[in-house]
Amino acid sequence: MAEFDVDLFVIGGGSGGVRAARIAAGHGARVMIAEEYRMGGTCVIRGCVPKKLLVYASHIQHEIEDAAGFGWTIPSASFDWPTLIANKDKEIARLEAAYTANVEKSGARIAKTRAVFEDAHTLRLATGEAVTAKYVLIATGGAPNHGPAIPGIEHVISSNEAFHLPQLPDRIVIQGGGYIALEFACIFAGFGSEVTLVYRGDNVLRGFDEDVRAHVRSEMEKNGITILTGCTVDKIDKHGREFTSHLSNGSSVASDQVMFAIGRHPNVGGLGLEKAGVAINPNNGGIAVDGFSKTSAPSIYAIGDVTHRVNLTPVAIREGHAFADTVFGKRSVEVDHHDIATAVFSQPEVGTVGLTEAQARAQFSHVDIYKANFKPMKATMSGRDTRVLMKLVVDAGTDRVVGCHIVGEGAAEMVQLLGIAVRMKAKKADFDATMALHPTAAEELVTMRTPSARHVREAAAE
Ligand SMILES: Cc1cc2nc3c(=O)[nH]c(=O)nc-3n(C[C@H](O)[C@H](O)[C@H](O)COP(=O)(O)OP(=O)(O)OC[C@H]3O[C@@H](n4cnc5c(N)ncnc54)[C@H](O)[C@@H]3O)c2cc1C
Repeated sequence: MAEFDVDLFVIGGGSGGVRAARIAAGHGARVMIAEEYRMGGTCVIRGCVPKKLLVYASHIQHEIEDAAGFGWTIPSASFDWPTLIANKDKEIARLEAAYTANVEKSGARIAKTRAVFEDAHTLRLATGEAVTAKYVLIATGGAPNHGPAIPGIEHVISSNEAFHLPQLPDRIVIQGGGYIALEFACIFAGFGSEVTLVYRGDNVLRGFDEDVRAHVRSEMEKNGITILTGCTVDKIDKHGREFTSHLSNGSSVASDQVMFAIGRHPNVGGLGLEKAGVAINPNNGGIAVDGFSKTSAPSIYAIGDVTHRVNLTPVAIREGHAFADTVFGKRSVEVDHHDIATAVFSQPEVGTVGLTEAQARAQFSHVDIYKANFKPMKATMSGRDTRVLMKLVVDAGTDRVVGCHIVGEGAAEMVQLLGIAVRMKAKKADFDATMALHPTAAEELVTMRTPSARHVREAAAE
């Protein structure tokens, strides 16, 4: 008789857990995967996918506005939020079913229940059943964090609820300056809601290149979004169906909905980690892991958002795959977290890969910056007041392009491909030698000849 009920028990049926379960089963492991909510996890059910569907929907408003300059007369368009949400839910249900079917096809068994540790090799399911496993993978993801319990916090929604609002709010206050806050601000603004974004820092998108931050903010403001920085929502009152958000700067904003998107915390609570000997990383509150995603307990691994390393779907998937190959595929794979292309699906979009200008200047003695800031061709006829930003950050010592930053339509698609060039250590000379594809916005990336700035560190200049 086998020593354990299964070879691998995966806690969490999200992006990372599902990939790990399928690959491990493919390597011949007996796998069980527990999911307490819906298969597919955050990305599929209440993250990337429904978010992008709403982005597409709200962007149509821009297309309608832009159409007039190209000769189109569109009789007054109307939008129905409940139809959009119902259609989005139908698509999400289809994807959930596909995820379930693919896991089952791989041979892994799904337990539609919560699972917690009893000890390092035993999981207790909410059904009461105990399952023993040779290895356990924690892939429990993360959840919205509302911050301190200010008065009226019970009125606040997170991105989870924003996907299921019964009606479109005429006015919404969104607190936060990260990508989720910006994306929802642009989504609601696209549908015609009056949006006020409140952020405690000096500018949105902390951690992104400074030029990107300034450009996105100005473009969002041109789209009618009010952005209040250097303040926080300190109290929320409810009067009937209206809310008043009282801000730390003494002002207040009335709205029909208040949403917070100020960060997410790793789902580590109540898992029984102490019983299993799994340590938390004191620096980020996630599960502490090594380069192979192994925790402090030798038979337990953790991947994805619960480790709070790089909280993105493709990263969770790659970590899950690497774990399965390492433990069950006789092939040790360590995930490289450098140069990960990422996007903000604001309107306009942000796409970025590699180092910001500030990071490059801290790392290299000679840094060249190439920048283009232009009105896109489409806007010349549509009359839309918008500009595209493209920026290349080059280590002048080696001529390597170490960072690419784009704000404008199609930025995410462009940066996915630029990510290959950056990872291949392409030089600025390679960009220059590449023939432009005309007429595109992306051709600017291979036609920027003269640096807009050259930075030489003082010590290096002597
Ligand atoms: C609004 C929003 C937009 C996003 N947009 C993007 C984007 O555009 N691009 C991108 O790359 N990333 C995006 N992300 C991030 C992305 O969703 C996550 O990085 C990704 O889902 C992490 O995968 P995971 O497997 O670590 O965890 P998750 O996908 O969160 O899966 C964890 C699963 O574990 C389950 N679970 C938790 N505890 C237990 C338990 N004890 N027992 C059983 N089940 C349990 C949960 O129900 C959940 O289904 C977005 C996130 C949000 C919230």
